[in-house]
Amino acid sequence: MVSKELLALLVCPVDQKSPLRLESEALVCTRCGARYAIKDGIPNMLVEEAELPPGCASLNDLECAKADDAKLDTTGSLT
Ligand SMILES: [Zn+2]
Repeated sequence: MVSKELLALLVCPVDQKSPLRLESEALVCTRCGARYAIKDGIPNMLVEEAELPPGCASLNDLECAKADDAKLDTTGSLT
């Protein structure tokens, strides 16, 4: 079980600021909808292993990755 205290600290790793919503066996980004599975009480916050929401074929399609202030470098170049 993920505690409220831990949940309050966790944010979407894609933009590193969007809050997550706790579901039964996953944390779901309230912004982009990516699902991070919780295994043995430990959320797996690896972007590469996140379950993408419907309509998103890749990480680049995530709402969080499209944000101007996204921290995830999906283009391979720094702006
Ligand atoms: Zn997100």
